[in-house]
Amino acid sequence: MRFLLSNDDGIHADGLRVLWDMLASLAEVLVVAPDRNRSAASHSLTLDRPLRMQRVAENAFAVNGTPTDCVHLAVAGLLKNDPPQLVVSGINEGANLGDDVLYSGTVAAAMEGRFLGCPAMAFSLAAIDEGPLIHYDTAAALAKQLVTQFTKRQLPSETILNVNVPNLPLKDIKGIRATRLGFRHRSESVIVAHDPKGREVFWIGSAGPAQDNGPGTDFHAIANHFVSITPLHIDLTRHVVLSSVATWIEDLA
Ligand code: MN
Repeated sequence: MRFLLSNDDGIHADGLRVLWDMLASLAEVLVVAPDRNRSAASHSLTLDRPLRMQRVAENAFAVNGTPTDCVHLAVAGLLKNDPPQLVVSGINEGANLGDDVLYSGTVAAAMEGRFLGCPAMAFSLAAIDEGPLIHYDTAAALAKQLVTQFTKRQLPSETILNVNVPNLPLKDIKGIRATRLGFRHRSESVIVAHDPKGREVFWIGSAGPAQDNGPGTDFHAIANHFVSITPLHIDLTRHVVLSSVATWIEDLA
């Protein structure tokens, strides 16, 4: 059995290393990850320049592209004739909850695996307070349980698991919950600064706090020290308004 591992924090990230070590205890692992931090790269592909894969270890490559590029190059390129049994992404430095999944490169790497026909899981270490993100071992232990379960029982088809693990010692984790995505308030304002020549420059502000975070959501699970597992799919169609949109366009001028 072979797993493909990627992330969006880059090939040198602590979370990737911890997950790599864990996965290598279960199966053969190929690592293809960005050569630098590409967090919030979303599901972007690089089409305006060629990509380079630099071998950094026997089964590991750094790519000068996005997380989606990495998984695409691996599944549709290196492993074209022998696809991995599972695509794993992470462990991200920080939560991917609610609307984060649309910006996340971590989730996008898993989605790209799914697009190309492979089962996929994304793992993120979620802060529960202001403390530093240090409990990657906890997330790796949970990942080991889930990946082992996957080897015994297949996931439903067309499904990506978005797994968030609270930044806590394993003994303090209360359990595991299957959740739905909540969503956040609007993000913080853009931060305006000035470059050395006095010209304005802008930083994107941080994500907003949770707004829809009641019981059953991913936010609620993390806040209560549970691991959150949200099954995701790719169909963004809003099926309940399909017929009303059809009516709305009936008498277009
Ligand atoms: Mn990241």
